[in-house]
Parts: sequence; C-alpha cells; structure tokens
Amino acid sequence: MRILVTNDDGIYAPGLWDLVKALMEVGEVVVVAPDREQSAVGTSVTLHQPLRARKIKPLIRGVESYCVEGTPADSVILALGSLIQGKVELLFSGINEGANLGDDVLISGTVGGALQGYLNGIPSIALSVGALEDVHFEAATRLAVTIARMMRNHALPREMLLNINLPNLPLDKIKGVEVTHLGRRSYSDVIKEGHDGKREYYWIVRGKQEWDPVEGTDIWAVLNDKISITPLHGDLTNTSRLDSLRGLSQVIFQELTSP
Ligand code: MN
Repeated sequence: MRILVTNDDGIYAPGLWDLVKALMEVGEVVVVAPDREQSAVGTSVTLHQPLRARKIKPLIRGVESYCVEGTPADSVILALGSLIQGKVELLFSGINEGANLGDDVLISGTVGGALQGYLNGIPSIALSVGALEDVHFEAATRLAVTIARMMRNHALPREMLLNINLPNLPLDKIKGVEVTHLGRRSYSDVIKEGHDGKREYYWIVRGKQEWDPVEGTDIWAVLNDKISITPLHGDLTNTSRLDSLRGLSQVIFQELTSP
C-alpha cells in the first residue's frame, strides 16, 4: 500500500517524520510537503505563479521525499499529478502541532491538504494534536498505524475524509475515541496596527480560543481527554436554510428585474 504524507507545518516538522516512521510498518511512504510552514492557508491552490518542487534528502533513509514551494493543497496536486509514480491508496496530513477543531477546519492547511486527496478519490486523514509546545505525537502515530491497517484490510470505507484531533496526552492518559461533529468557536482575533517606516500595516493576531464545548462535538471530545474523529465532506450546503431561501427566490428575481 502506497501512503502519501503531507502537512502544513513544513517538510522538516517533527510531527511529519514521526508519522512517516510509524506508517512505514504498514506500507510504502512517500512525502510531498510544503518547504516551509503554511499553517492557516486552508484549501488555497497556487494558480498565478509557477511552482517548484525538489527532491530532498529525507530525514529517514529510503523515503522518497519532495518539498514544494507552495501550499499543502499544491503539494498534494503535484504529488498525485506528477511527482509520484503509481497509485496512492491513502493520504495523511500532519501530524499538526495545534488542534484543528470546529470552524477552524475552514482555514486549516492540514485539512486543506487532506481535502485535496479526498477530492482525488483517496481516503484522506487530517491528524492534529492539541498543543503547540511539548507535543505528544505517540498516540497520534499509533492511531495512524491503526487506521492504515484497517484501511489495508478493507475494514474502513474508502470514500472518506477524516478530521482527527487528539488531546496532548500520553496514550495511557487518553480516555477514549469519540466520533463527533464539528463544534463552534467564537473568534477573538486582534488586529495589531503598525507602521514599517513607509506604510501602515495590519497584523491579524489570533486571540484566546473561545470554544463552545457542546456535547458530541470535536471540541467537547478533546476537552474531555478523548480522541475526536469527525467525518467531513466537501458539501458545505446548509440544508436547513434551503426551504426558507427557496421561498425568497421569486422575490429576489422580481427585485432584480423590476424597473
Ligand atoms: Mn500547522
């Protein structure tokens, strides 16, 4: 089984190589990842400039590895369309340092990389640990191996995009696995204004995380020391609004076309 590994923390991030090392037990691992940190670039794809990719000396001997001067989504598109020969059967994006929970999946580069695999028909998993310092990768690597084995044994559906988050704990402190839906977080981003000597600039600074820990959500699971697995798909349609908006479609058209 050939497994593609990407991330958004950059190709030399420790979480990526811990994951690669673990997945080598299950299959042939190929790494294609951004050459530098690309956190919070979401699903961004580079269309207005050329992309360079370069084969690098891997941190683990024998692992075919490329870095891309682009986003996680760029890396996956290049990997599948050009760099990797033969079929990719599974994709992991991570292990990210920092949680990707709730509304944040919409800006997550980790999820953006996995989404691109999913759109290309490959079962894809975004894997994150909820800490930025002293990150415990062990439980996440073991979980990745478990999932890869289940996929190899056809114990999981192939059409799958999973967003997995782990609390930053050693394996023996983790209390379980919850299959969840996305929670909500309220943003308290701060805009710092400054002047670079020539022009004004603005810097978006992430404020304190304000989670809404509703039972059954990914946020709730991780706050309760459990692993959260959320199945995602690409359809962002808000089905609960379809009927009320349909009732307005005639009005909108009339307003548009009235003199
Ligand atoms: Mn990241």
